[in-house]
Amino acid sequence: PKYVYRFSEGGMDQKDLLGGKGANLAEMSRLGLPVPPGFTITTEACRAYMRDGHVPPDLRVEVTLALREMEDTLGRSLGDFHEPLLVSVRSGAKFSMPGMMETVLNVGLNDASVQGLTAVTGDERFAWDSYRRLLQMFGRTVLDIDGELFSGALEDLKTERGVRDDTELSAEDLRGLVATYKAVVREQSGADFPQHPRQQLDMAIEAVLRSWNTDRAVLYRRQEGIPNDLGTAVNVQAMVFGNLGPTSGTGVCFTRDPSTGHSGVYGDYLPNAQGEDVVAGIRNTVPLAELESLDAAAYAELRQAMRRLETHYRDLCDIEFTIEDGTLWLLQTRVGKRTAAAAFRVATQLVDEDLITMDEAIARVTGAQLGKLLFPQFDTEADTELLTTGMAASPGAAVGEIVFDNAQAVERSEAGAKVVLVRRETNPDDLQGMMVAAGILTARGGKTSHAAVVARGMGTCAVVGADELDVDAARRELRVGGRTLHAGDTIAIDGTSGRVYLGEVPVVDSPAMTYIAEGLDAGRAAAPDEETRELVEAVHRILSHADAARSLHVRANADTAEDARRARERGAEGIGLCRTEHMFLGERRELVERVILAADDDERDAALEALLPLQREDFVEILRAMDGLPATIRLIDPPLHEFLPDLTELSVEVALAAERGENDERRERLLTAVRRMHESNPMLGLRGVRLGLVVPGLFALQVRAVAQATARLRGEGADPRPEIMVPLVGSVRELQLVRQEAERVLAEEGRAADMLLDLPIGCMIELPRAALTAHRIAEQADFFSFGTNDLTQTTWGFSRDDVEAAFFSRYLANGVLRISPFETIDGEGVGPLVRAGVAGGRATKPHMHIGVCGEHGGDPESIHFFHDAGLDYVSCSPYRVPVARLEAGRAAV
Ligand code: PEP
Ligand code: MG
Repeated sequence: PKYVYRFSEGGMDQKDLLGGKGANLAEMSRLGLPVPPGFTITTEACRAYMRDGHVPPDLRVEVTLALREMEDTLGRSLGDFHEPLLVSVRSGAKFSMPGMMETVLNVGLNDASVQGLTAVTGDERFAWDSYRRLLQMFGRTVLDIDGELFSGALEDLKTERGVRDDTELSAEDLRGLVATYKAVVREQSGADFPQHPRQQLDMAIEAVLRSWNTDRAVLYRRQEGIPNDLGTAVNVQAMVFGNLGPTSGTGVCFTRDPSTGHSGVYGDYLPNAQGEDVVAGIRNTVPLAELESLDAAAYAELRQAMRRLETHYRDLCDIEFTIEDGTLWLLQTRVGKRTAAAAFRVATQLVDEDLITMDEAIARVTGAQLGKLLFPQFDTEADTELLTTGMAASPGAAVGEIVFDNAQAVERSEAGAKVVLVRRETNPDDLQGMMVAAGILTARGGKTSHAAVVARGMGTCAVVGADELDVDAARRELRVGGRTLHAGDTIAIDGTSGRVYLGEVPVVDSPAMTYIAEGLDAGRAAAPDEETRELVEAVHRILSHADAARSLHVRANADTAEDARRARERGAEGIGLCRTEHMFLGERRELVERVILAADDDERDAALEALLPLQREDFVEILRAMDGLPATIRLIDPPLHEFLPDLTELSVEVALAAERGENDERRERLLTAVRRMHESNPMLGLRGVRLGLVVPGLFALQVRAVAQATARLRGEGADPRPEIMVPLVGSVRELQLVRQEAERVLAEEGRAADMLLDLPIGCMIELPRAALTAHRIAEQADFFSFGTNDLTQTTWGFSRDDVEAAFFSRYLANGVLRISPFETIDGEGVGPLVRAGVAGGRATKPHMHIGVCGEHGGDPESIHFFHDAGLDYVSCSPYRVPVARLEAGRAAV
């Protein structure tokens, strides 16, 4: 295979092979934009390296050829004594993994070429500073030397010289530091720092390939659901310098505001600095617009490149650039990350500018982003004490205890506390803490700093660059405005406004969400502000297009009239699952106990009799709320352990009562019955249809209640549309028996009410046997609904109540699972059963109506699967209905 692509050879569609960065560098080169020359080593080389444990031999040859071409173009050679070419060696995977892998800059510098660099730039200080940066990065990244040894030596030198800032060190100081660093390298690695430029390059390339599998990269991929076997590409590119003095600098810009979507000039610029300084948030940046006054020509050229890229990609782009002594260079671009709100607004703005179609617009946003618009916000009316304000980097509202490091963050969150991670700035080593934190707060850095980028990617609320904060991590103290806060103190941060509050602040639903649900003019007291209105309109446009495009219907899982109303407001087209067992909790629990444990028919009938009116009222309310729309009512499916008293507890109670000399006959009878019915595996026990067939009258009671509720509502002129659903069916005979009884009850109630009550009767498909015998079961079913929670449980043999906590983290870590199969449908293992169930059902009844009501019904990736599998609808929680509508639309375009 070909392992090396010149920038002139690749293009934006080759992200699999060249990684995102490499593909886009190639694309920019082809557009004729000013990109420093270079080449990309493919992800295939990385996969070969991981497989074989060494760099493929062909790679060295290909690198030589590409490097020579680069040298010829530039008229300089790598590490040359006179006019050295220096290169950067950067990772770049298909999916952005900000800061997770390694980078080595200034490769090619050695004791000789540092002189050449001095001569060319006329800046001895700069040359030695570049050399010490190479030693530091190379030592840490390539030779695996503890970075503290380098940064510690730098700190010592500054203390010795009595200076605070690196820039105050002289060329002479830095030359001395280089000597110190070389000694560190020799001591720690047992060999001298390699002087040969090509050897440096080869070692740096190998280190970057290796960095695909660092702990933090693996952890990040697990968090983001990125497959482990993709590998990273490596980009080798001529260095340009933003730290050559006041006519140089480096920055990051967006073609539109990545928070609001408004077009304009957005970004950060840092004069006289290298790119890493911006990302690390080491110094505070200036707004990009100020570049115009610093260097009007470079600014104009940048504006033009921004427009060019946005038109070419037809999307918001972010761009990293460097100005080297007045010359603009583009170092990276990509379709920019953005907030959820911006995604919707940018998509509709691009439609209005005729750059994309509505079909493309719905592909540009995701259900996950829409989900984020449901993020809670702080109650702005509440009494609050503002501590300070920073930059709003990632939306949301977080309240928690202050923690200052990973260890504390993990310890406190494992103890059940919500934590806000407070750092001067973050770096990739803070990832663990960031992952468990409810919010992230930093004192330094801009909207493109590590903290901001990572938090946005994780959907964690973050405020960055709150520069009034004095963070003293060593003493675990935070000073601001004359106050000192300690670890454990509560603060609240608002990732939408950038405000930081002392103490608890009450959280309310996002105002946008309420408008998205109820419409902009649903007679609410407060009119939305302009920004909210724009966002809501954008979301509505996209949702209505998704509604028009989708073939899947969207229903809700709702057990109460309140849920039903909420779901309807959000666009649900019916109830896909009304779990009736929830109606038997609370005060009614005792009645159910009596039904299940009854000693004789009379006792049971009495209990059933008492339940009937209660159950009927439940159904009246729900059916009224869903008037005119289907409502699937599932007959009771109680895993018995959730319903009956716990055996151990009850035994203790009875024993204690006996000791006290009390004689509680009811309790003792209950104990005997519970003992009799106690199950080792309740999830696989007397549940669902099995219970219905074992306890006479229980299902009949429910069917009767549905029938009476329907008759009553029809009598009032309403249009109730209940469907009766039988859970946990494994054999057609089970369903047949229930159906016979249900039909008998419906006929009886129909006669009594003088109307035809031929309600649809169907069943859940939630056992492998049901899926595999669906053609038989369909003989007795008017519809199917996949219960993918139980289907996943029984296919994997995973107890759904236990295993996620018990060992999924291990399974996610070692790659058995990419994501919990209870969250996203396991397309490989459970998927074929769903497909078999659909095929079986429709073989018997070609137009059989089929849906899904497991939790997967609200999961974006799963919804695409259900669309492909040919289902008629998904059913999910009321809050997720808009998300499901959007994803169903996206699946269809
Ligand atoms: C299911 O099993 O997927 C289902 C919807 O039923 P329950 O979660 O109530 O078992
Ligand atoms: Mg189930």
